[in-house]
Amino acid sequence: MGSDIKNGKERTNNIYLRKSLIVLLLAAVCHGIAAAPVQEKTWVVVIDAGHGGKDPGALGSSCREKNINLAIALKTGEYLKKSLSNVKVLFTRDNDVFIGLKERADFANKNKADLFISIHANWAASKSIRGTETFIMGLSKDEQNLEVAMKENEVIELEDDFSARYEGFDPKSPESYIMFTLMQNIYQEQSTQLASGVQNQFRTRAGRIDRGVKQAGLLVLYMTSMPSILIETGFITNPDEEKYLMSKEGQEYIASAIFRAARDYISEIDKKSVIRSSADPVQQVRVDTVTESDPPSETGLKFMVQITTSNYKKEIRAENFRGIADVSEIRSEDRFRYAAGNFVNYNDAVEYRKQILGLYPDAFIIAVRENKIIPLQEAMDLTKTK
Ligand SMILES: [Zn+2]
Repeated sequence: MGSDIKNGKERTNNIYLRKSLIVLLLAAVCHGIAAAPVQEKTWVVVIDAGHGGKDPGALGSSCREKNINLAIALKTGEYLKKSLSNVKVLFTRDNDVFIGLKERADFANKNKADLFISIHANWAASKSIRGTETFIMGLSKDEQNLEVAMKENEVIELEDDFSARYEGFDPKSPESYIMFTLMQNIYQEQSTQLASGVQNQFRTRAGRIDRGVKQAGLLVLYMTSMPSILIETGFITNPDEEKYLMSKEGQEYIASAIFRAARDYISEIDKKSVIRSSADPVQQVRVDTVTESDPPSETGLKFMVQITTSNYKKEIRAENFRGIADVSEIRSEDRFRYAAGNFVNYNDAVEYRKQILGLYPDAFIIAVRENKIIPLQEAMDLTKTK
């Protein structure tokens, strides 16, 4: 269990190593040249084939959901890898193994994924129900969406000690889903953009029935901290769709539709936020921490809006950040992160993010404590207990 996750990590480390070497070489080559090279953002895309191993997922008349999910996930990843040089694809599983929902989300979070795409196939009691739908995290009053969430979340019952791991969350009890009303999905806009792209592609290019973009309390999306979607590629309880999803051609159509949507999303965001390196790429890399500008709250906690990352250190000047003056640098292990604003209240950061979204559409809120980025949920808990 989870062995491919470890391989994924090793792969990541290798890629970082190779990337640092390239950066060093580039820096050496560019030394003395006045024009700064344009730094392309590397996108980390985690593709998650739902279910696996002892968890077959939904059952069709002659297929298991887990196999369809895996085939489509691998093809989608292959298309992304082949076509986009600035994308690093990681799979939560690339074979038939069981992985818990929390492990899937943790894997994406640890690898600092920019996108999380979970691939599933749907189930309905009636054979006539058909079509594709893409979910983002959120609370919906729609009973059908709740049903999908319950079905997809139910897999945690196969995990050891699931009640403790998921803090008493009962996937079958509607009351458990109330906790999702407390969350604010800061990636809602981006997730919706990607989800709409997928549904568009399904409808216009793959000729599938489009049941739309929906919201539901899906645990795996709840636990990831990046734009995340869960795709239901069709109903394996409908004979036509089952046949389609089991066929090589059907799987290729679905995978290429997901690929195109992801590609378009990435190029859209890239267009708006090209990262340019600072004037002197050979500048000594210093281990820096967040610059103190505002007095921190009593908890030492502050909320900022991460606007961009760079492999090179950038001089903190408004013209380097599209006119934003209040920028701090956060040195993380692999790259420089730049965050704007400095707020004691989370809601102030939310308001501020809205103001600068036109400049940085991919901006998101981070919590910083003792000069370290901490998980947002932890920060929210800290502000609550205060
Ligand atoms: Zn599923």
